[in-house]
Amino acid sequence: MAATVGTPASRQGELIRRAEDLFPGGVNSPVRAFRSVGRAPLMLEAGAGARVRDADGRWYVDYIGAWGPAILGHGHPDVIEAVRAAALNGFALGATSPAEVVLGEAIRAAVPSMEKLRFTSSGTEAAMSALRLARGATGRDLVVKFAGGYHGHSDGLLVEAGSGLATLALPGSAGVPAQVASATVVVPINDLDGVRSAFERHPDRIAAVIVEPVAANVGVIAPAPGFLDGLRELASANGALLIFDEVITGFRVAHGGAQARYGVRPDLTVLGKIVGGGMPVGAYGGRRDLMANVAPDGPVYQAGTLSGHPLTMAAGAATLALLDEAAYERLEAAGAALETGLRNAAAEAGRTVGIARVGSLLTVFFRDEIPTTADEAMTSDRAAYARFFGAMLDAGILLPPSQFEAWFLSLAHDPATIEETVTAAGEAFRA
Ligand SMILES: *Cc1c(COP(=O)(O)O)cnc(C)c1O
Repeated sequence: MAATVGTPASRQGELIRRAEDLFPGGVNSPVRAFRSVGRAPLMLEAGAGARVRDADGRWYVDYIGAWGPAILGHGHPDVIEAVRAAALNGFALGATSPAEVVLGEAIRAAVPSMEKLRFTSSGTEAAMSALRLARGATGRDLVVKFAGGYHGHSDGLLVEAGSGLATLALPGSAGVPAQVASATVVVPINDLDGVRSAFERHPDRIAAVIVEPVAANVGVIAPAPGFLDGLRELASANGALLIFDEVITGFRVAHGGAQARYGVRPDLTVLGKIVGGGMPVGAYGGRRDLMANVAPDGPVYQAGTLSGHPLTMAAGAATLALLDEAAYERLEAAGAALETGLRNAAAEAGRTVGIARVGSLLTVFFRDEIPTTADEAMTSDRAAYARFFGAMLDAGILLPPSQFEAWFLSLAHDPATIEETVTAAGEAFRA
């Protein structure tokens, strides 16, 4: 039970102590430390369907979903079999493998704007490389991003807004040179005027606008009507490229990603997470004339020893093969059922929350309404979220350990699992 989680007497507690001696914060990616919810971190060692098991043998209904990739649920037999078969052929061989062609064609069939693409080993690399390409292709240096938009941890993208609209950014991390950060212009999400003013203030200097078409790293913030179309027009009118970072939304909010759901065609797209089926992955691609700039065809250098890894390609292809139209209908239904159930549970508990949802991505914001910008999201009651998180964890439901991370549903979240979650929430909203 929860009383033993992280206590020294438990196996999990002992492993966490050893991890804390090895890794900063005991983790290899910061949010896993559970700091923002004030709980001992979990050590997870197995997943099956909608559930994960900690190192003390306790199972939880899982809404972290590996931070996005686990759209089929954990350990789908088809994916396991594909990876097993690929592994028997000896892992990476240092040349292009048939599996890269298979997954590349599957991605392009779903996301036709990616006329050519390149696989990387992480979303960070793919976003960073897409920007290098945008700069190389346009001969311009500046990039517009949105406050609260996350595009991996490369220097130029790890920036926060300065005060006011369309200011040149300040570093969002120690160790990012001010000069690098100042090549990024930060604008609030959903603020087309801010983008327009950025183009006015920096004429002929902006290479690209990069956006999460559904923001999902400050909690879920859907694009306001006309926002993505407006970005398309402004980028084209000013000779800049439009880059959709669909690392989360790709194969998540629709088979063809947010660009299919909202009907806007970007020049370049960044993918990750789901397309690797749970293995390390990233990909970037887009217009054929732009991709012609990438080495060895062109002067923009980008490489990766393990890019297009056969095990990743096998897991990704097996995953995409199961994501048909019916799958997205089921994900939508599961998301809607969870949203409605949580809304009712909150109302019965006398708790006001804003529930934001796009398909199978959902955030319960502990504030009066759903936010439309990162600044609004930041006014959420984090202490209340931490109490809710803790009560849900004690009831066997694992939520993302931060108010500002999306809940990820999977095809394994069946109606009974959603019901179990909603019942637990009825109590947890009173915590
Ligand atoms: C996760 C994420 C990334 C970074 O991907 P990594 O594989 O963690 O490097 C980039 N963009 C978005 C939108 C993401 O959610």
